[in-house]
Amino acid sequence: MIPTEALTGSLVVFDDILPAKQGIAFEMAMGQVLRIVDVEGQQVPDLLCFNAADHADKFSPPNTQLLNQTVFLKTGHHLYSTRARPMMTILEDTVGVHDVISGGCSAATNEFRYGVRGTASCRGNFEEALAPYDIPEPEIPYNFNIFMNVTVAADGATAIEESPSKAGDYIDLRADMDLVVAISNCPQSRNPCNGWNPTALRLIMHEPEARSSA
Ligand SMILES: [Zn+2]
Repeated sequence: MIPTEALTGSLVVFDDILPAKQGIAFEMAMGQVLRIVDVEGQQVPDLLCFNAADHADKFSPPNTQLLNQTVFLKTGHHLYSTRARPMMTILEDTVGVHDVISGGCSAATNEFRYGVRGTASCRGNFEEALAPYDIPEPEIPYNFNIFMNVTVAADGATAIEESPSKAGDYIDLRADMDLVVAISNCPQSRNPCNGWNPTALRLIMHEPEARSSA
């Protein structure tokens, strides 16, 4: 069951399915809210963003950890840029499990871990999706892993576990500046990240005034 009732009366900018394993990039105006819905459950959206007015000011996983003072982001936390500016805010979140330290899968790390060359990957998806914005691969930062369950033990050991995200779970992210946003619907099938089975996401963007009038 996809929770659309919270959007009743809102002005929807778009409402689209992002198929399994695919990437997308789009512009998002300050104040707009993006809802990412896990359609079938246990699917991780990798997300990153750029200041639309200055692509050198972009999502920074280290600053996000440093300035929120946690590696486990929750409702109310911000995604911060390389220049320590808030880029997005988590408004709502039905899962509460996300990762900001593990980056995104790449053909290189897949070859290292699994001995397979030329796999589909989040880094590859970002490179393709951001090409129309003239953002080449070396300028693409690492990302926020929504719904990704990376455990951190007391001794610092990390592990990728299956996500607790269920069908219909979602996160709402508000843009705190004009952005270029990129999402990779993670194609990883060789570890528990996506429950061993990459599936679709639903992306719903709506205007801010719609929320208050709903
Ligand atoms: Zn991935």
